[in-house]
Amino acid sequence: MLAALLVEPKRIELQEVETPRPSKGEILVKIKAALTCGTDLKAFLRGHPMIPMPGVFGHEFSGIVADVGKGIKEFKAGDEIMAVHSAPCLECSLCKKGLYNLCEKIMKTKVLGAFAEYILLPAHIVKQNIFPKPQNLSFEEAAFLEPLSCVVHGMEPYGIKEGDSVFIIGSGPIGLLHVCLAKTKGAGVAITGMEEERLKVAKEIGSEIAVKPERIGEVVKDFTDGLGVDYVFECTGQPDVWQDSVNYVRRGGTVILFGGCKTGTTVTYDTKRLHYDEITLKGVFHFTPEDVKKAYNLLKDGKIKVSKLISGSYPLKELKTAFERLMRGEGIKYAIIP
Ligand SMILES: [Zn+2]
Ligand SMILES: [Zn+2]
Repeated sequence: MLAALLVEPKRIELQEVETPRPSKGEILVKIKAALTCGTDLKAFLRGHPMIPMPGVFGHEFSGIVADVGKGIKEFKAGDEIMAVHSAPCLECSLCKKGLYNLCEKIMKTKVLGAFAEYILLPAHIVKQNIFPKPQNLSFEEAAFLEPLSCVVHGMEPYGIKEGDSVFIIGSGPIGLLHVCLAKTKGAGVAITGMEEERLKVAKEIGSEIAVKPERIGEVVKDFTDGLGVDYVFECTGQPDVWQDSVNYVRRGGTVILFGGCKTGTTVTYDTKRLHYDEITLKGVFHFTPEDVKKAYNLLKDGKIKVSKLISGSYPLKELKTAFERLMRGEGIKYAIIP
């Protein structure tokens, strides 16, 4: 089969590699669509601690079951599926506390390599995180299961409801998925980002306000009658933005820090703001199998429509073009069709 390897930053090579065969409990999936993601872009630009080089990459996908290992009863060759690339071990001390997203093994046992013709799903993923693709979703849309699971994990615990105000900082695909999810809850949504094209999409998917960073101050003030917003979602992964994000939340409000910053960076906060204004800062990472089920239902039931976040598609051999366009700030997500 053909697989795209990230050899070093900005160098992708297409290689003929052996198609894996499923052992007991495993499923081989023929990829029908894989999506580019911010993590892949970071890896392409400068490498990423979770994506070893040289190596295969890509982790948002959907496809058709090509072959199943012994013991698989729920799926057979030819079934259309959607899945995520990781699952907890259920045995480590953090899993035993129910913190499945923080499982000690979850990052070590994840699978990469969706930018290829096939991907092999190991038994622990097959047991927890693979679903039949409903007919009403295209393969491109079904591949949103993974990023949407992350967003569900960050937003779901707060019981956001009609009348609440949500401010999203960062208009990349993750920021825009936050818009989609906040709108299903009836919240008022404002978003800020650098790219005109993405802000336009933000409005199309329901954000009342979508502005460039220069205008944040005045806009957030108007949006909340000077009070500050109920929730801020930081989706840029820049330490200075993490720091700035507490300036927009009301007293007693919550700031959710979604965007991962570079390892080793630090931030400083005004203690008066955190203490006397009772502001909650919450970091969020990855997702649990329960989040994946919720994300699956949101997509399946048509509550979240992701088609506007797909900016185009490329064959595997043009994967580099997709990243070069993202590098220039063009488009939101590209579908790679092997
Ligand atoms: Zn991703
Ligand atoms: Zn575990």
